[in-house]
Amino acid sequence: MKFWKKLIFATLLLVATFAIYLVLNIRSLSVEKISDDLFVIRGIGGNTTILKTDAGTVVVDSMTFRMQGTLLREKAEELTGRDVVLLINTHYHLDHTHGNPGFKPGTQVAATERTLSHLKALDANSWQGDAAHLLPNEIFNDQRKFDFGNKTVTLIHPGAGHTDGDLVVVFEEDKTLVAGDLFFHKHYPNIDLEAGGSVQQWSATLDNVLALSFDRVIPGHGDTTDRAGLIAYQEFVAELAEIGRRAAANKLSLDDVLKTDQLETDEGYEPIAFAGIPLGLDREFVLRRAWEESTGNFQIRN
Ligand SMILES: [Zn+2]
Repeated sequence: MKFWKKLIFATLLLVATFAIYLVLNIRSLSVEKISDDLFVIRGIGGNTTILKTDAGTVVVDSMTFRMQGTLLREKAEELTGRDVVLLINTHYHLDHTHGNPGFKPGTQVAATERTLSHLKALDANSWQGDAAHLLPNEIFNDQRKFDFGNKTVTLIHPGAGHTDGDLVVVFEEDKTLVAGDLFFHKHYPNIDLEAGGSVQQWSATLDNVLALSFDRVIPGHGDTTDRAGLIAYQEFVAELAEIGRRAAANKLSLDDVLKTDQLETDEGYEPIAFAGIPLGLDREFVLRRAWEESTGNFQIRN
């Protein structure tokens, strides 16, 4: 075989192997059973939470691919023995919403007004055709309560942080908070300044979250934890905000900020990877975002 033929063959083999690896990763979901009524499903890209109620199943976030959404719906129904009555999107990012089309058209989909607005303005192409049937259709601004007989599910928009439209979910009877991406546990967060996210406001937003009643905390990314885990994360975002303010006050360049390296509350934090590929959500990224917000070096997109 000529060299170039060998090269093409090797490249195709590599691409095919990676495609198979990716599909296997996408299809792989692991279940953490917290109680007979409560489950966390972990897959490539993040966490989905499942609650069984007398009225049916509640699902929080749908991961990245329609295929994952379908598998999540099937898994949720298998674990609870009940149809999905409510799908909740904690915010607009694709790793929490793009699985929606795997759910049945007509499903109630809850989100904040800002989340729906971001989906339509920043991600319109993904919601054409039949996917449009699974756009959020139960919209609220500040708070929304669902009564499912034996379970009360409260959705609250506590303020800006990760974006300006995130909601958190409280499963009242199970004393559980589903924090979405307002909380990356032991991982560096994405900070979507362009969609109204804010390092500066994040800690006050978490004060509003911590005022709610819960013991257990399920983050958008990372392991299940408790109030202490969330408080530790709040210290991290508060320190980041302080670094940003100091940089602006002292007119520091981004390079100065990166070189001075003052961040101390990120011990044990790891960058998130997607099927083994790092997404660039690391220490340098969060410091840069803190600097960009404090110095106005970014542009709101919606
Ligand atoms: Zn996100």
